[in-house]
Amino acid sequence: MEDALKTAIQDVPDFPQAGVVFKDLSPVWANPNLRAKAVSAVAEWIQSTGSTPTAIAGIESRGFLMGISLADRLNVPFVALRKAGKLPGPTVSESYELEYGTAVLECQVGAFDSSDEVLIHDDVLATGGTAAAGAALVNRSGAQLWGFSFLMSLNVLNGSERLQAKCPAARFHSLLSV
Ligand code: AMP
Repeated sequence: MEDALKTAIQDVPDFPQAGVVFKDLSPVWANPNLRAKAVSAVAEWIQSTGSTPTAIAGIESRGFLMGISLADRLNVPFVALRKAGKLPGPTVSESYELEYGTAVLECQVGAFDSSDEVLIHDDVLATGGTAAAGAALVNRSGAQLWGFSFLMSLNVLNGSERLQAKCPAARFHSLLSV
C-alpha cells in the first residue's frame, strides 16, 4: 500500500508558491484500485482499534474525496468542514494560523450529535493547524473527537506530534509518512 501510494503521489516543487513542495494526489484519485485499497487500509486500522467512529468529518476540499468513501464503508454520516463563507448558517467557526496569515474552518450548527465520536479525515497533514481547527470545531459542537486519519503526513513539519500534543486522547493514523 505504502509503495503504491509513494509511486502514485507526485511532488510539484514551488506550487502553489515558491518553497512549497505540493503533494499531488490526483493519480490516487484517478486510480479506482488504489482508491479502494486506501479506503480498505483505513477501515482495517479503524477495526484494529476495537472502536468505531460514529461520524466522519472531511476537511475541504480533498478531505471530502476519501472521507465520503470512508463514511460509506462505515455506514456513518459525513460532515463537511468548510472554508469560511461556504456553508449556510448558523455555523461554528474556528480560525487558525497558516504559514502566511490566517484561515477559518466552519461547520454547521447541529452537524454533529452530542453523542458523536468523530474521525477527522484529510489528504495531507503538514503543520497540523487545519486538523487542529477541525478538532476544535468538533469539541465546540459538543461532540467527541475519535481520531485523525490522513493519506499522507509530512514528517519534517511535525504535524503528528503537534496534533497529538493538542489532542492526546485522539487516535492517529497516516497511511504514508514521508
Ligand atoms: P496544515 O494545516 O499545515 O497541516 O496543512 C494541511 C492542509 O493543507 C491540508 O488540507 C492539505 O491538503 C494542505 N497541504 C498542506 N501542505 C501541503 C502539501 N505540501 N501538499 C499538498 N497539500 C498540502
